[in-house]
Amino acid sequence: MFAEAYELQAGLFKALMHPARLAILDILRHGEECVCHMEAVLGYRQAYISQQLMMLRKAGLVEDRRDGWNIYYRVTRPDIYHVIDAMNEVVGQKPVLAARSTHLREERCLCPKCNLAAEAVGN
Ligand SMILES: [Zn+2]
Repeated sequence: MFAEAYELQAGLFKALMHPARLAILDILRHGEECVCHMEAVLGYRQAYISQQLMMLRKAGLVEDRRDGWNIYYRVTRPDIYHVIDAMNEVVGQKPVLAARSTHLREERCLCPKCNLAAEAVGN
């Protein structure tokens, strides 16, 4: 069956086939982030984000790490960004979310990284 040769690829595309999951992967582009940060940036409820993260984890794209009250996620296969970048080129769009530009006090995020960023600018 030739179709079996494409199961892995189709599985990955299925994992990517959701706006919220693509947004999450953009947020994780520059490194790990906690779930609360994704919640603040995306404006979705934590349960919804966790559900999408579970799909990404099942596909082997992300893994989590607990640190006290915070659960951090990171991308385990950064090569996936080649696929995402190629797709962005096809549709003529740049990624709108990237962690570095979103560690801002305006997000009212209480994650450790945002707290550090807020302290750095004296807030
Ligand atoms: Zn944050």
